[in-house]
Amino acid sequence: MSKKYCYLFTEGNAGMRELLGGKGANLAEMTNIGLPVPQGFTITTEACTQYYVDGKRINDEIMAEIMEYVTKMEEINGKKFGDLQNPLLVSVRSGARASMPGMMDTILNLGLNDDVVAAMIAANPTPEFERFVYDSYRRFIQMFSDVVMEVGKKYFEQLIDKMKAERGVTFDVELTAADLKELAQQFKAEYKAKIGEEFPSDPKVQLNEAIKAVFRSWDNPRANVYRRDNDIPYSWGTAVNVMPMVFGNLNDNSGTGVAFTRNPATGEKKLFGEFLTNAQGEDVVAGVRTPMPISEMAEKFPEAFAQFEQICKNLEEHYRDMQDMEFTVENAKLYMLQCRNGKRTPAAALAIATDLVDEGMIDEKKAVMMIEPRSLDTLLHPQFDGEALKKAQAIGKGLGASPGAASGKVVFSAEDAKEWAERGEKVVLVRLETSPEDIEGMKAAQGILTVRGGMTSHAAVVARGMGKCCVSGCGEMKMDEENKRFELAGKTYKEGDWISIDGSTGNIYDGAIQTVDASVSGDFARVMGWADKYRRLGVRTNADNPHDTAQAVKFGAEGIGLCRTEHMFFNEDRIPAIREMICADTLEQREKALAKLEPMQQSDFEGMYTALAGRPMTVRLLDPPLHEFVPTEEADIELLARDMGKSVEEIKNIISALHEFNPMMGHRGCRLAVTYPEIAAMQTRAIIKAALNVNAKHPEWNIVPEIMVPLVGEARELKYVKDIIVKTADEIIASVRSDMKYKVGTMIEIPRAALTADEIGKEADFFSFGTNDLTQMTFGFSRDDAGKFLGAYYDKKIYESDPFARLDQNGVGKLVEMAATLGRKANPRIHLGICGEHGGDPASVEFCHKVGLDYVSCSPYRVPIARLAAAQAAIKNEK
Ligand code: PEP
Ligand code: MG
Repeated sequence: MSKKYCYLFTEGNAGMRELLGGKGANLAEMTNIGLPVPQGFTITTEACTQYYVDGKRINDEIMAEIMEYVTKMEEINGKKFGDLQNPLLVSVRSGARASMPGMMDTILNLGLNDDVVAAMIAANPTPEFERFVYDSYRRFIQMFSDVVMEVGKKYFEQLIDKMKAERGVTFDVELTAADLKELAQQFKAEYKAKIGEEFPSDPKVQLNEAIKAVFRSWDNPRANVYRRDNDIPYSWGTAVNVMPMVFGNLNDNSGTGVAFTRNPATGEKKLFGEFLTNAQGEDVVAGVRTPMPISEMAEKFPEAFAQFEQICKNLEEHYRDMQDMEFTVENAKLYMLQCRNGKRTPAAALAIATDLVDEGMIDEKKAVMMIEPRSLDTLLHPQFDGEALKKAQAIGKGLGASPGAASGKVVFSAEDAKEWAERGEKVVLVRLETSPEDIEGMKAAQGILTVRGGMTSHAAVVARGMGKCCVSGCGEMKMDEENKRFELAGKTYKEGDWISIDGSTGNIYDGAIQTVDASVSGDFARVMGWADKYRRLGVRTNADNPHDTAQAVKFGAEGIGLCRTEHMFFNEDRIPAIREMICADTLEQREKALAKLEPMQQSDFEGMYTALAGRPMTVRLLDPPLHEFVPTEEADIELLARDMGKSVEEIKNIISALHEFNPMMGHRGCRLAVTYPEIAAMQTRAIIKAALNVNAKHPEWNIVPEIMVPLVGEARELKYVKDIIVKTADEIIASVRSDMKYKVGTMIEIPRAALTADEIGKEADFFSFGTNDLTQMTFGFSRDDAGKFLGAYYDKKIYESDPFARLDQNGVGKLVEMAATLGRKANPRIHLGICGEHGGDPASVEFCHKVGLDYVSCSPYRVPIARLAAAQAAIKNEK
């Protein structure tokens, strides 16, 4: 039998997300449980995939099935497309498996044309109804032109603004039927001017175009970026929902709203939402008018509201999660248009998960699975410092739409936000209102401030999804987007001026405000406790100084998986000593430089061992790409020459001799220890002495130093360096009559090391997968330069994500898995971990769980993310 590409809402259910998309599956489920849903149908995600297979066209078979379902919908609703007695108008909405703000979302009132409009008015010639019909018509032309034909919303908005100015009114509801009629005509003329053709009048053509536009939007640049950021595969495709219209803009006895069963910003268990009378759905979300709180709906439509409250309760119990719903009231009668698990701030997500456990709705594992690991990031980032805040000058207040604290320079467009951020500036994106085109700019900004829009406006919803600080709906601002300035509290702010915004309180401040570090407490700590209970993987951190170590321990790190010793010399007061070592041309000179470095290293290690309080630490021997350390400034060269008793000329010669064509594949890692064993010896002394000293003060910590050799590609290479370490360490330990144990292991970061892990494993107590270098060398492209061309690879769908951020499981992952197996065979007690950037990426953490590594190690701020991701991996892969 051939595939079925269309499903009536009565034919689906919530379990069919993959095929019907989230929206379609939930419309079917709401229908099944008897809720008032206008009855339409869903075109499957497979139809979308097929559209691309067929070279971006809807094939005849699928088109025929769609038309068959249009007929079914017409029969069910007793209305027909283009009919002059009883015309059917529909909404067309995209709906992927996961909600995707980058895509085309909605077209309303599809099916209108001049004839239908005239017939509708003739059948009910009251001014109020006439106004409604023209309002719907101008909306349809505008949306169709914008989202289907990509004409650009602004042209239409300019026409509306012009009309409002001419009529001397503020809101679009104040425009009369005649005004709207004229607008509809202006819009059609605008369409013709931009597209070069008449606006399509045949409803079936309109529908066909709209469906194609939804399919197309799956592949637009915004959607591609969103997918890459959120691990959504391109192969999923999007579904399309076609649903008969109900009209919130019919009259004052109608309206439309968006609501959440709990507060999406805080998680508070209380119906939360917004409502607009005489309006259509997009008015609430787009922030055209600032809506009223949902509680006021109770006064205006008591019956519909009571029914709605009950539905909310039922839906939450049904899905056992906070629901986000769109609904419309037409002539006081309630219709449900959408429900889904609501987007929420990370803080709300934690509050809701713990509340649902306490309410007996879900268990701990489900709670752990409900939190998006990456979203924790914002909770770990700084908040405004209390003292600094007291002194700050508040200049206005909007809605606290997405919590967090942001200070930055004002920019007025998404493009500017991106551009400024790329050159290292912190910016706050200030907009009249945001739209999906602004997503990349929002991502680049520290925070977002909008003049219009409520808590459910695009800016608010998207910012919450991103975990980005956002203040919306600050109506006091006098915005002049064109000239890049706004006025607030009597002051004019221009592009580049500093402001600060608080996404919890909605407060806006003049200038920059200092911030303080966050901590893991309350609901956050509770969920992390559950995560720790269910995860198998250990979580360590990559840190190279006592401060970061202490921070990571606060975030739950169980040790240090990678201390990059070369980072300990980046400080200005230390860099001369390491330069001296690098530029030494005799053993004597090198020993002299090393003698300066040793006490610095040792005291750092002591600070770190102390901060770790008995937790393990893997210290890696020096792995400096030398070019990062040699001086380039004339003054630095002169200084080095003076320190080393050499001429500037001599130093310059040494520097030029150090030049490498491929420094990433050059004289680094264990190759340094092979050529200059005294470096490995010095570092071993510093590590062992530091461990002995700290252990003497805290014998209960039983410190067992772990010394790691980088960039090994051959077992004998490791053996050579290991012999130096062992000789040095044993001498010191014996000299103080200690019985301290230590371990020597290696990074697996060169493909040859993975391939010969059975040989290398015999010499190693542990392996730590350096997937940064392993990715670089497996792909054969430089980790420093690949950014220049990877963009083209994403655009051409050759790669879906950055292999340096998300582990390439098919290639690099195969090497990891193989090396783990070979290593264990050679040494059954070998300890296995990962310390490349991938150690903090949730999808990569799941991979590490599956291949049986013992731990992951990541930067301090990603430790909670890795803990949660590890728990999710364990729960997901339970036998
Ligand atoms: C790696 O290569 O993955 C690694 C952790 O080492 P580095 O990033 O310091 O080269
Ligand atoms: Mg490396």
